[in-house]
Amino acid sequence: MGAADLDTAFFVAWIEEAARTVGIEKERLTRLDAAIGDADHGANLDRGFTAITQALAGTEPDTPGALLALVGSTLIRKVGGASGPLYGTAFREAGKFLGDASEVSAADLAAALQAALDGVQRLGSAAEGDKTMVDALAPAVRAMSLAAQEGKEPGEAIGAAASAALAGAEATVPMQARKGRASYLGPRSVGHEDPGAASTALILAALRTVVTR
Ligand code: ADP
Ligand code: MG
Repeated sequence: MGAADLDTAFFVAWIEEAARTVGIEKERLTRLDAAIGDADHGANLDRGFTAITQALAGTEPDTPGALLALVGSTLIRKVGGASGPLYGTAFREAGKFLGDASEVSAADLAAALQAALDGVQRLGSAAEGDKTMVDALAPAVRAMSLAAQEGKEPGEAIGAAASAALAGAEATVPMQARKGRASYLGPRSVGHEDPGAASTALILAALRTVVTR
């Protein structure tokens, strides 16, 4: 394990920062969902992350994998809608990939993020361009994998992934939705950022915030 590898405390700090930013940004997420969905995405995610914060106040998981498993199962129980099972699966698959390792390298994190994306796509069968969270997550996975292959430290790999997720979320604006509730709007879904892509970018921005502390 390298000196820059990420431990359980780091992952806990990430999830706490994600919970904090979801709390701050929940109105914006709900506004995005009001435009092309049913105006509940911010409230849904905030309910899930609040429950996670409460669970973490009582127990500190032993490994990054155990933490991500706890996050995933809490999101499945608490968030509801389309995004609850999708985000829940993403975190659970990442946690399952990490297993009982106590430290995580950039390459491990890239592979865990790939496992998360695979889980989302198995469950929701969205491809890139369908205007969903996949449009933020897939470019983030590519950016992180490339950085890891180039031997970059986790901090740099995470920075690249967060930037790619943000660009991917912004790129959903001109897309027409082909999956989820927004797809019912057909061409009227064009011209709005996808709420799930926006929240994926937020969660990865939180990861960058904690790695640069
Ligand atoms: P709901 O649409 O049930 O109200 P949310 O509002 O919490 O659930 O989440 C909506 C987000 O879920 C969308 O913006 C989109 O990113 C994501 N989403 C919906 N369906 C899919 C799918 N099949 N695959 C991937 N992501 C999806
Ligand atoms: Mg909704």
